[in-house]
Amino acid sequence: MPRAVLAERLETLREAGVLAETRVFQHAQDAGTIGPDGTCATCGSAVPPSDLLVLPGPGYDGEGDDFVSKSLTTAHRLLEPIRGR
Ligand SMILES: [Zn+2]
Repeated sequence: MPRAVLAERLETLREAGVLAETRVFQHAQDAGTIGPDGTCATCGSAVPPSDLLVLPGPGYDGEGDDFVSKSLTTAHRLLEPIRGR
């Protein structure tokens, strides 16, 4: 299937609420987007999990109002524990 057709179909599913892209991964050192193969779109390196930032994505709807859900509304390193206040 051509890439453009696949992208269009995925966007249709996302708009219909069937597919939510709730999280986005970035390379902590240059804010490059991480592709499905785990490489950074900016520098091209294979990014280890310890260097990944997790951010709310375009499909994120705020989910619950518990401590963990609220903590996940801002960028954080993937492997760092969420600390209470
Ligand atoms: Zn990078």
